[in-house]
Amino acid sequence: MKSIGINGYGTIGKRVADAVSCQDDMKIVGVTKRTPDFEAQMAVDKGYPLYISAPEREGQFEEAGIKVAGTIDDLYDLIDLMVDCTPEGIGAKNMEVYKEKGVKGIFQGGEKQDAIGHSFNSFANFQDAWGADYVRVVSCNTTGLCRTLKPIDDLCGIKKVRAVMVRRGADPGQIKKGPINAIVPNPPTVPSHHGPDVQTVMYDLNITTMALLVPTTLMHQHNLMVELESVPAVDDVIDLLEATPRVMLFEANKGAGSTAEVMEFARDMGRPRSDLFEIAVWKESINITEGELFYMQAIHQESDVVPENVDCIRAMLELEEDAQKSIAKTNQAMGI
Ligand code: NAD
Repeated sequence: MKSIGINGYGTIGKRVADAVSCQDDMKIVGVTKRTPDFEAQMAVDKGYPLYISAPEREGQFEEAGIKVAGTIDDLYDLIDLMVDCTPEGIGAKNMEVYKEKGVKGIFQGGEKQDAIGHSFNSFANFQDAWGADYVRVVSCNTTGLCRTLKPIDDLCGIKKVRAVMVRRGADPGQIKKGPINAIVPNPPTVPSHHGPDVQTVMYDLNITTMALLVPTTLMHQHNLMVELESVPAVDDVIDLLEATPRVMLFEANKGAGSTAEVMEFARDMGRPRSDLFEIAVWKESINITEGELFYMQAIHQESDVVPENVDCIRAMLELEEDAQKSIAKTNQAMGI
């Protein structure tokens, strides 16, 4: 049983903590918080030993009556691997500390590929993280692109991908971000970072992306145009994506024609936090014209990378060699 710490118990961190907790080959031995807020109290209520990542704030936790197990320095001694879920840019700085302390580290998509050196997606390059010390799990959008493009590439070979990414303006809990009433080309230049990010795990894929921010918090949405080496029947692609783990087909004509309705479905499923770990692909959007495959999908940005973090732990700590077995094990434990 491997011992895992979570540095940064926010949107991604608290979900990864819960996902690790339901596996039988790894356990959470501590999570860190900087601020004595309700999330810190909830971590304690759930039974996660809480460590302070800013030791100078110890008094604030005492004042708030939140019981802590120690500071992050105490946690380093207990863990085999730290999953860093701090805001973008901080993980790269933390990596230097992890190196000093001799602990392995997983980082999230907000960190730059160059800063961490190696990126991960369960479907694209599981094996390459075998025994690695420092690995970045690619972002929610990149995870969504890999989940559907990898099986399509395996089935019929991809010549070229063009994708338009419609990005949520903020997460539901983020009160300071926008846009409130605008569509923002983000970036206004092409390509957006998503295509190059896919290439950090699907190394040879010819992909170019452009992205817009829109005033929604529920999900990202992608529109893909994929030139293929060999042209399958539309039904073959539908069958392929139906059989692909962590991908779920939705039908507009059954009432799931928008991100709002897809997330209503997720709420009705009754999963913790109403998370939708799967990539939602609209079945009606799958079409082939002049040898080019078109489809539309949506990404629950708060949760799709969570099972990938579990698989990445398994590869780095050499717990399971086979990507598909790890994916199945993670899914079974998480109810995916
Ligand atoms: P978040 O702001 O929800 O959570 C970050 C947590 O880290 C908070 O608890 C914060 O208090 C804590 N923190 C801040 N500074 C810290 C520090 N110096 N040391 C330790 N802890 C610190 O952020 P998030 O959305 O969970 O994002 C975390 C990472 O995951 C980022 O790299 C982000 O790009 C990536 N990511 C986010 C999403 C998403 O949609 N939210 C999706 C995929 C990947």
